[in-house]
Amino acid sequence: MQPRDLSTHVPYEAGRGIEEVARELGMDPGDLVKLASNENPFGPPDAAVDAIQRAAANASSYPKAAHTDLTDALADRHGVDPAQVWLANGGDGALDYLARAALEPGDAVLVPDPGFAYYEMSARFHHGTVNRYDLSRPEFTQDGDVVCSQYDGERVVYLTSPHNPTGSVFSLEDVVEIADRTGEETLVVVDEAYAEYADVQSGVSLLGGDGAADHAFAERDDVAVLRTFSKAFGLAGVRLGYAVVPGAWADAYARVNTPFAASELACRAGLAALDADDHVAKSVETARWAREHMRDELDAPVWESQGNFVLVDVSDARGPESADAVASELQERGVIVRDCTSFGLPGCIRVTCGTEAGTERAVDAINEVLAA
Ligand SMILES: *Cc1c(COP(=O)(O)O)cnc(C)c1O
Repeated sequence: MQPRDLSTHVPYEAGRGIEEVARELGMDPGDLVKLASNENPFGPPDAAVDAIQRAAANASSYPKAAHTDLTDALADRHGVDPAQVWLANGGDGALDYLARAALEPGDAVLVPDPGFAYYEMSARFHHGTVNRYDLSRPEFTQDGDVVCSQYDGERVVYLTSPHNPTGSVFSLEDVVEIADRTGEETLVVVDEAYAEYADVQSGVSLLGGDGAADHAFAERDDVAVLRTFSKAFGLAGVRLGYAVVPGAWADAYARVNTPFAASELACRAGLAALDADDHVAKSVETARWAREHMRDELDAPVWESQGNFVLVDVSDARGPESADAVASELQERGVIVRDCTSFGLPGCIRVTCGTEAGTERAVDAINEVLAA
């Protein structure tokens, strides 16, 4: 026998890993700079590494207390009820829980194009269908009109703010406008995977959370916010993320989550990372410097970004479908970036903000390749 018909399901294309590329090039992994997956170039916080080592001794027990402790800590941080925090195996896992909780078979979702591939994968896993809203070039502007003019009654609308791979954001006013203008049975998911790097008010303040007092918007039952430990907290490898959901959705978690959604090691690492303020601050500061540095120094158009990455247009220098070639040539120089062809942008690469040295090395290499 065979699996069900998966012909509409497209495999996720991850950024290339350092070991993989090093092996292929016969290079030492230490000589490579990986700026392809928006990971934290400073690694995990030391306290999280210690916590994982300590938690190893408890690996034979299910993570009940750790799960509760982390949920409580996050609820406290965001000023919401613990039941509104849905822990998951990465932000991607939280997207799955939201799709599981929201979608009936055949329900449609609306996703950005270009955009993060997992929204539509997750919708398809949950027997949903996928429509897209275009972020038109050259600016890739994100606002209420862009989304609402292309909305057609979908059950879930995904907003990415800051947006991957362009770095643009929705203001809180835009989110409210979209939630108001879409149907009562439409959930607006605000993906804030890169929120720590941005200067924009979080959607959590629409869920009764902190910041609610700073504006006049009412608490909503049709917005959910996605967060992850993979980026600013430096824990992509442990797989830890969460959704903050409306109070009215809280009970659904117990009905849709895979039991013990986040591991003991992940929860303990997450708890430690939440206290690693210096590490997060250094990561954010350096990313803000690096994205401006790349905009100033690269010999190609670079979009303004509020994330820990920039989108670079290499088409003027090397042709409209040159991203693949540019990424390969950079790889030969030991710099791994993301070819954005799979995002539908074959003339663009996405470059993660590195350490100061890593970023400078990337700038030199990219300018060399652009001049070739
Ligand atoms: C990285 C990322 C996520 C979450 O990734 P996880 O590693 O699964 O937490 C979600 N959305 C976007 C747009 C991302 O770039």
